[in-house]
Amino acid sequence: MLLEEDILEIRKKFPILNEKVYSHPLVYIDNAATTQKPLQVIKAIKKYYYSINSNVHRGIHFLSQKATYQVENVRNKIQKFIHANESSEIIFTKGTTESINLVASCISFFLKKGDEIIISHMEHHSNIVPWQIISEKIGLTLKVISIYENGLLNLENFKSLISEKTKLVSISHISNVLGIINPIKWIINLSHKYGSLVLIDGAQAISNFDINMQDLNVDFYVFSAHKMYGPTGIGVLYGKKKILETFPPYQFGGEMIENVSFKKTTYSKLPFKFEAGTPNIEGIIVWGAAIDFVTEIGVSNIQYYKEKLVKYAIKRLGSINGIKLYGDNTKNSGIISFNLNSFHPFDVGSILDRLGIAVRTGHLCAQPLMNFFGVTGMVRASFSIYNTFEEIDYLFESILKTINIINK
Ligand SMILES: *Cc1c(COP(=O)(O)O)cnc(C)c1O
Repeated sequence: MLLEEDILEIRKKFPILNEKVYSHPLVYIDNAATTQKPLQVIKAIKKYYYSINSNVHRGIHFLSQKATYQVENVRNKIQKFIHANESSEIIFTKGTTESINLVASCISFFLKKGDEIIISHMEHHSNIVPWQIISEKIGLTLKVISIYENGLLNLENFKSLISEKTKLVSISHISNVLGIINPIKWIINLSHKYGSLVLIDGAQAISNFDINMQDLNVDFYVFSAHKMYGPTGIGVLYGKKKILETFPPYQFGGEMIENVSFKKTTYSKLPFKFEAGTPNIEGIIVWGAAIDFVTEIGVSNIQYYKEKLVKYAIKRLGSINGIKLYGDNTKNSGIISFNLNSFHPFDVGSILDRLGIAVRTGHLCAQPLMNFFGVTGMVRASFSIYNTFEEIDYLFESILKTINIINK
């Protein structure tokens, strides 16, 4: 368990937290969009360009071998981090979005008119649009699990949607708007009973839970480095080997080939079959430092602390007259979205910004969810390991101030 002094020590590792915003100390609570980076990650970037930079996999020379070794080392680290069976099941992509697009693109070769895909009403746009596109192209039916007024998934509705026609169920592990943790193990088990594959969007969950591919028995799990203290532009598609082996390549070029002639080209084995072109070598290697950071603190410690923070935030903010908090408040992973009276979320966000508080406002990449709640946008506060109870008190006071300013 982390004590207050541990959190202060952790804060010292994040130089950006010393920044002043309009002469106020920065209160960074936009962590669901991206997290800040600790010193060991920042140092790893410098180290990479000082002593490693080189292209991977084809080089015979010293640096190329060093870079290759480190890239593969991070692949192994991620394999262990998510308890995957083999490191070849870890495919590097640009991030969650590209990982979902990769699966959508590859799986479309196997689907036919009348097949069905199930998503939910709370998905991020990146777990909606790729499925819409292939559904329109092939004539698939895209079904949407409804949610209750409190934001929880309607599992009875899911039971009524799933059938032998379902080929894929694609659901977020944690909602990026409501912080709700979905019962993915139950969903995976039921989907498999009907012979459907399952993809879990783990963008928000990856730094919160000890995620275990063996235990979940999930077919695909996707996430990004930048939401777990790592760099942007790098992420992972985990896929079961026996499924990925049947997939055609996603993009074509160098790195993914075995033999090329003008008559016929044969492809590399996993994972390289899906990694055409020079990868984001810097991003991969630096991600390794972020995983070390998370592992040193312990994922369950991070989750426990964030749950305490959000519980406190819900209690404090919930007491404000005229605030509407969205979503169930009992199983929250560290994200709250709200509106104040009938104020425009943009106005609220702008005033909070002037007070040094970084929140996200708008549709939060989930327009269907906004429509469900009958709003065009929300204000989102999302917490991380370096946030403090004092910052929540400051947020509370700043919201009161905001209400006064707008009401004037
Ligand atoms: C952030 C996020 C994404 C998109 O991740 P990228 O890193 O932008 O590709 C998808 N789903 C959820 C739930 C997210 O929070």
